[in-house]
Amino acid sequence: MAHITVSDERFHIFFDKNNAPVARAQSGDTATFVCRDCYDGELKHDHYDFAKMDMSRNNPASGPLYVEGAEPGDVLRVELLEIEPAEQACMSVRPGVGVYEIDGSHCRVFPIRDGCGDVDGITIPLKPMIGVIGTAPGGEPVSTQTPGEHGGNLDIKDMNAGNILYLPVETPGALLSMGDLHGVQGDGETVICALEMRGRVTVRVTVLKNKPDIPTPFIVTPTHFITAAADESLDVCSVAAARKMHRFLIEHAHVDAAKAGMLLSLQGNLRISQVVNPKKGCIMDFPRDLLPIDFEE
Ligand code: CA
Ligand code: CA
Repeated sequence: MAHITVSDERFHIFFDKNNAPVARAQSGDTATFVCRDCYDGELKHDHYDFAKMDMSRNNPASGPLYVEGAEPGDVLRVELLEIEPAEQACMSVRPGVGVYEIDGSHCRVFPIRDGCGDVDGITIPLKPMIGVIGTAPGGEPVSTQTPGEHGGNLDIKDMNAGNILYLPVETPGALLSMGDLHGVQGDGETVICALEMRGRVTVRVTVLKNKPDIPTPFIVTPTHFITAAADESLDVCSVAAARKMHRFLIEHAHVDAAKAGMLLSLQGNLRISQVVNPKKGCIMDFPRDLLPIDFEE
């Protein structure tokens, strides 16, 4: 198996089947994606003037990586092996974004030390995650600001090393890209950003054939299965995420619809992943060890 490096010299701000691959991998190879931060490195110091931000470079994604043998209808298994954080991170708060009423624009840079973010003396342990990760959609290009069935700007705090992400393949080679790394993020990402940082992500990519039953984008952690959905309306994406898990249980735990619904109502957590992107996101998590579930990682 080879190891590929996907540099951050080329990036894109649309998941697009016409993006030229920057590297190629065989199924089973590992790849390290070098990722810029969501502000493309512009927010370097406290009190940066956000009005000067070049938004045409916001949320740059490194890639795409072409995975040989991936064909539309397949699933790309992306094992998240390591997320290496940078030595500092940044945040911005500004009017008209996020859910709070806050006057003025506030840009801050925070050091990262010993696996923690130092937020003005408040120590917050890092739980590094990937904000933007996806494959190229088969239809129209989708901005890296937006989450969807292809992945994209998911901002799911469970996108950590040690977990596995399953993405749809809608175009030959899958065209995997990622960026927008977060040192740590809470559910909702309510102020519009997380502890934004550049960094490096190492993954193993595997092409899965004949797996239409995997409800992509799908996350498997050592303890939970997680389904995800995105929509302008929280009402719509919450129902969609829950129904994906419902269908998954019927198919993989071999229970009927009523039993699956009861189990989900008791042990499934329907969570808001973020409310700040053009489409909001909901996820449902369900424990792996409650009953036998027929799913091969
Ligand atoms: Ca994001
Ligand atoms: Ca972000």
